[in-house]
Amino acid sequence: MDFRDTPEQAKWRQEVREFLRTEWPKVRPANDEDLDAPYQRGVAGDVLKKWREKLAEKGWIAPAWPKEYGGLGLGVMEQFIMNEEFAEARVPQVGGMGVSMIGPTLIIHGTEEQKREHLPRILRGEVQWCQGYSEPGAGSDLASLQTRAVRDGDDWIINGQKIWTSGAHNADWMFMLARTDPDAPKHRGITYFLVDMKSPGITVRPLINMAGLHNFNEVFFEDVRVPHKNVVGEVNRGWYVGTTTLDFERSSIGNAVGQRQAIEYYLRWAKKNGVRLAEPTRIEWADRWVEAAVARMLSYRVVSLQAAGRVPNYEASMAKLYNSELSQRIARTAMKMLGMWGQVTERERAPMRARAPMSYLATVSATIAGGTSEIQRNIIAMRGLGLPRG
Ligand SMILES: Cc1cc2nc3c(=O)[nH]c(=O)nc-3n(C[C@H](O)[C@H](O)[C@H](O)COP(=O)(O)OP(=O)(O)OC[C@H]3O[C@@H](n4cnc5c(N)ncnc54)[C@H](O)[C@@H]3O)c2cc1C
Repeated sequence: MDFRDTPEQAKWRQEVREFLRTEWPKVRPANDEDLDAPYQRGVAGDVLKKWREKLAEKGWIAPAWPKEYGGLGLGVMEQFIMNEEFAEARVPQVGGMGVSMIGPTLIIHGTEEQKREHLPRILRGEVQWCQGYSEPGAGSDLASLQTRAVRDGDDWIINGQKIWTSGAHNADWMFMLARTDPDAPKHRGITYFLVDMKSPGITVRPLINMAGLHNFNEVFFEDVRVPHKNVVGEVNRGWYVGTTTLDFERSSIGNAVGQRQAIEYYLRWAKKNGVRLAEPTRIEWADRWVEAAVARMLSYRVVSLQAAGRVPNYEASMAKLYNSELSQRIARTAMKMLGMWGQVTERERAPMRARAPMSYLATVSATIAGGTSEIQRNIIAMRGLGLPRG
């Protein structure tokens, strides 16, 4: 593999880097050291708003979308370079699920009316979206979902429950899957809906994660009316809409860069404070450093397949599995380095404002969200190694 940029790619990388170097400091609050930490509490809303406006001016909110829908129509490598530079500069991406998931899905499967209604609002950052797939009895085996939608004239009436719905408490709209034909084979009786979160009958209940944060929720549907015009694709064919390549960038490059930056952050702190590391911890850091380089290579592998017009399969699972487990190992090594201080979670008193213990707690979910490690290993075993299903 040739790691060098072509002259055009190098020019594009320079343009992105220069923009971030000059524009991000104008928006980023001074002395907000949280932005450089491995565990961030998120960027303040007003900062994000200003940053979104700057990106919108450049047409950089949804660079992967085709130009006719307000994107840049970037190729795989150009997109990858942009994401890599954003990650290196620790600059937030602003589009959320609207830009990365539902927008591309509507561009492929949506009606003209759906595109006109939703795409401009996503580009202007006016609406937040959430994803209503998982249910208490349907996660890894998503096709077992039981939330029901029944046709009633021009509407559908939805009853059931979703769970682990990230950001539902701030969302204006949800893209979701519901069962519309309970007698059909399970993949063939599911329909894809767009649901206004203000519809009567929707209740959002917070779930607090083990780090004490409110990121995801339970969402209950009680006789929620959704107009038929909000069905995406064909009725009972929603499984295929839902599994469309929702994410245009699946190389995990942002994660891979973040791993190295996290290690650098912890080690900067140790050196600055003259922390003498016992040999096992020193050796662990060396291992983590090598592993961060491996994570990057796995990301490059995924993107080079995409750039060659191929669809990464078990290779994307390898990158996801490795990155998520590495984030946990890095947090563990940081905790070992801190010893008993790792138990202090009060930000004011703890070393590095408690970033190590918060990362330790927060990274637990990395090996569950977006497909668990067991599922990724099964994909690698079956599709990568050609082993028979167990
Ligand atoms: C931080 C976070 C954010 C999330 N955000 C969203 C969201 O916004 N929207 C949404 O819809 N969902 C979301 N989810 C849900 C996520 O997609 C599911 O948690 C995930 O798919 C696993 O499903 P489950 O929790 O039902 O676990 P299960 O599928 O019940 O799995 C339980 C255990 O059994 C193992 N297992 C299951 N099947 C197999 C198998 N075939 N072979 C071997 N082992 C198996 C799993 O690996 C796991 O260890 C989020 C989850 C997390 C952690």
